[in-house]
Amino acid sequence: MFSYNPASLLADEFINDGEILESIRWAEENKDNLELIDQILEKAKPVRKDGQTTCSGLSHREAALLLACTDPEKNEAMMQLAEEIKKAFYGNRIVMFAPLYLSNYCVNGCRYCPYHTVNKTIPRRKLSQEEIRQEVIALQDMGHKRLAIEAGEDPKNNPIEYILESIKTIYSIHHKNGAIRRVNVNIAATTVENYRKLKEAGIGTYILFQETYNRERYEYLHPTGPKHDYSWHTEAMDRAMEGGIDDVGLGVLFGLDNYFYEFVGLLMHAEHLEAVHGVGPHTISVPRVKPADGIDPDEFDNGISDDIFAKIIACIRIAVPYTGMIISTRESQAVREKALSIGISQISGASRTSVGGYTETDRPHETEQFDVSDQRTLDEVVRWLMELGYIPSFCTACYRAGRTGDRFMSLCKTGQIQNCCHPNALMTLCEFLTDYASEETRVIGNRMLQDELQNIPKENVRRIAAEHLEEIMHGGKRDFRF
Ligand code: SAM
Repeated sequence: MFSYNPASLLADEFINDGEILESIRWAEENKDNLELIDQILEKAKPVRKDGQTTCSGLSHREAALLLACTDPEKNEAMMQLAEEIKKAFYGNRIVMFAPLYLSNYCVNGCRYCPYHTVNKTIPRRKLSQEEIRQEVIALQDMGHKRLAIEAGEDPKNNPIEYILESIKTIYSIHHKNGAIRRVNVNIAATTVENYRKLKEAGIGTYILFQETYNRERYEYLHPTGPKHDYSWHTEAMDRAMEGGIDDVGLGVLFGLDNYFYEFVGLLMHAEHLEAVHGVGPHTISVPRVKPADGIDPDEFDNGISDDIFAKIIACIRIAVPYTGMIISTRESQAVREKALSIGISQISGASRTSVGGYTETDRPHETEQFDVSDQRTLDEVVRWLMELGYIPSFCTACYRAGRTGDRFMSLCKTGQIQNCCHPNALMTLCEFLTDYASEETRVIGNRMLQDELQNIPKENVRRIAAEHLEEIMHGGKRDFRF
């Protein structure tokens, strides 16, 4: 029997089954206690003091109570609070990225993923360095500056040396005005030594989805391969941090198990990182299982409605106010639109989830990991965001300026984001508009740049940003940052 201890390094103690079940039970028991819900909502509100906005966040139990609440008025109050918190720390900026699939060779048996080893129908493919170059040029030509690389787990075909070489290749390519300035990495759990190598290669965030926090369910869903080991997988973020990676990205694959269990587990994981490393996760992703080659999401029987999905996003936003939240093109335009207002700060655009997909004219399906719902071009996504009042940001400044881990969090907490992230978003959007946008998008964007310049609080920052916009548009200069 394990007991709950957020500061423990043992998976079964910091993601403690007993504590999760007890939190769910307590939340169910108290879900009609509107007074308690009001107190929790009050506690979570942003507070302005001495020019700084701070939020206390919530414990996993408090957040569980919000998730359990069925009162329509309180649920509406939660949505509004999530929106308020989102605006306070992330403003109207949305960071853009794209996934890049390097290889679909995999030795694991994940039941929900078409790359699983027993799938003999999916063609296996691994990009050569020359093919990576071509994919990156295609991504740069769309306007992308930030990638998340994806690969199956296969020590023979995709050893760490291959991943490191690929990162080097990606950073080395400068096609026209293009550059990939941040490479995030989503590869299987590995050793401290390998995480150290990834850190040295200059990665941004190390992303690893837990898939499910329920050990029993996890072991069933990962019947074979190294990923079968629940503890090895769950303790990966601690090894990544030990290896020097400050920014880690959590996520669960919603639909695999009971969403309530996953939600509590996810927040406990965030609390654990804070307790042990002094900094919570840099990002949280909220993928849902999608149809794929031989994969029917209904088989897992835990699918969630769009309304529950939105509520989960809002509750995560309230519970961990400083953590970025990511939604991918797994979701439709309509679902993404709702998610943006209540918490999401980062989205992918024009994604292809197949190995080598970006160099093909038509979307290839053969080696695809899952179906993509939002199939618009990056130009269309950028225009759509601006029409909704968001600033699409291609900024990668923070980690390049050493603002990772708690240094990024303190930027967030001291409200300097508006003097830093805001101008950076405008300058990188300006690069996009100048180099890659359609005429229609450029017209909307240039208007937005002028309007949004006025929202930079410090006068000298505003002046410098305006000069840089001018230099980007008419002087051929690129890559300014605060
Ligand atoms: N192979 C690495 C690992 O095992 O962690 C990570 C890369 S994998 C390409 C990225 C993520 O895709 C997985 O962690 C999983 O959550 C997600 N995924 C797999 N199958 C999926 C499906 N059918 N629908 C949606 N997402 C899926």
